[in-house]
Parts: sequence; C-alpha cells; structure tokens
Amino acid sequence: MIIINSKRELIDTLCRERERDCKVTLIPTMGNLHKGHLSLVDKSDDFPSKKIVSIFVNPLQFDDSNDYLSYPKSIKADLEALEKRKIDYVFVPTKEEMIENLIELDELPWGFTNLLCGAFRGKHFIGVQSIIKELFKVVDPDYAIFGEKDFQQYLLIKFIIERYFRNNNIQLILAPTIRMDNGLAFSSRNILLSQEQISHATRAFQSIKNTVIDYFLETGLFNFDNLIPRSGKVHYQYVKLYNEQYLYDKHGLDVNVKSNQKTFRLFIALVIDNVRLIDNYLVEGYDIS
Ligand code: AMP
Repeated sequence: MIIINSKRELIDTLCRERERDCKVTLIPTMGNLHKGHLSLVDKSDDFPSKKIVSIFVNPLQFDDSNDYLSYPKSIKADLEALEKRKIDYVFVPTKEEMIENLIELDELPWGFTNLLCGAFRGKHFIGVQSIIKELFKVVDPDYAIFGEKDFQQYLLIKFIIERYFRNNNIQLILAPTIRMDNGLAFSSRNILLSQEQISHATRAFQSIKNTVIDYFLETGLFNFDNLIPRSGKVHYQYVKLYNEQYLYDKHGLDVNVKSNQKTFRLFIALVIDNVRLIDNYLVEGYDIS
C-alpha cells in the first residue's frame, strides 16, 4: 500500500496504472474509519481495479469551525485497517494541497440548499461538491463507491457526475448502510458520545422509525409530526418522509417514471449534546398503484 500526499504524484501514478490497462476505484472518506467505511472497501472487491481510499477532512463542508476542529481523527489505525484490506493507494492530502486554487461553484439545484441536510447546513453541499469534483478530476475513477447512509450526498455525487463528468464513464456504486447489532448506524461521530448517549440515540432512531413507518403504511399519510416520540435528551433536527422520485427531481436529476411502485425513504437527523447523527431507511411495502 502506497501513501500519496500530492495530487501531482497521484495523477502520475494513476497514469502509469492506466498504461497497464488497470481500472481505478475511488472511495472518498474523511477518515476515522469504522465498519461502515470498511464495507465500502470490501465492496470494491467486486470491481477488479486499483483501489484508492482518500482521507481528507474537508473544511469546506463544515459550517461550524468547532465541528470541523473536533472531527475525530485516527490516521494510524486507518492506515493499518486499509493495509489489511489490500488497498493499493491511500491519498492523504494536506488542506493546502486540496484547497489552494480551488474554484468554488456556488450553484446547486434547489434541493441541496432547501431539503434535509441542505436546509440546516448552509454551504455544506457546495463544500462537498468542490472537493469531490477535485478528487474526480485528479483520479478520474472508473468506479466510485459511496454509502447509502448519506443518501442526499449520493444524490449530489450523481448530480456532479451528470453535470461535469458525463463523458468520463464513472460508475457510481451505492453501498448499503452498516449498522450495529442494536440498529445504530456506524458513524465517525459516535465516538464523541458516551455509552448513555449512544443508548438514547439508538432508542430515538428506532422509535421514530417504527412510529412513522407504521403510521405511513397504515394510512398513507404524512402528518406524523405529533406522533414522533420526544425525549429531553435528544433534539430532532428533521424527520422527513419523501418519495425518491420527488428527491431526484428536486436535486436536478432525471426521474425514472417507469413503475407505479413508488419508493419512499424516511430521513432522520438528530442532535445529542451538539453531536449530529443522521440515518435514513427505505420504506418497503407501500404501493400507491
Ligand atoms: P465520511 O467519512 O463520513 O465522509 O464517509 C465516507 C463514506 O462512507 C461515505 O460514502 C459515507 O456514506 C460512507 N459511510 C459512512 N457511514 C457508513 C455506514 N454506517 N455504512 C455504510 N457507509 C457509510
């Protein structure tokens, strides 16, 4: 496994790999790797290619500098985990390397600034867009793997590919969310919580999910706000249920209208003691035909 810090070196290295007809898989992360990240790495085994994991805590996607500064880091353990999984290259750029001379485009479809995380996180998706575009420019991957846990981010990556890399043949792969036995999704931020707070978070996600999905499957209605179980320890930023076609449309993506079977997804963001956790769940079994 080779660790690369500069974009130039990465470009040159990948150029040599391509001369040998190798394909390239990119897995972008912000480090502090957990089982969710590593499942993306395992997924890359499905695609014979040179594997690159990037580790970069992107300052442009944080609107709160404390949140950025307190973002957990564990580079030594990350590199050990990746080495074990036979990753070919780890790209660990400095902040200057990634951000200097970066052109930040301010424009994104409505959903990225008005729906879900977009409504609460200021320029978050603009910041994600800038760095992912830069990574795609440098790596020009054949395969790019992202997690379903950040579904709105997945829509953004789809949008970036459609808007800027249409001719590059990047295959976007969505990997399922990995959760602990108790149902809580693995997240780099879990480490910032005590065991007691983890239990509160787990119960909160579980009870909202069960309540909202049961109500929706029973009635087909969206007026579930009053039913959401409240607990003083957990603050709910949003609990939203959307038809995926609506989401695709509002995020500037082509809508596939082939079937009557609508796919709904429940999105939850909650905050415990300034730590923000998100998750989303596919709602199965609802047919509006
Ligand atoms: P992050 O380091 O949080 O930027 O995440 C890097 C990638 O890992 C993103 O594509 C995330 O969607 C994905 N990811 C994060 N948590 C999980 C999880 N619990 N299960 C699957 N993928 C995840």
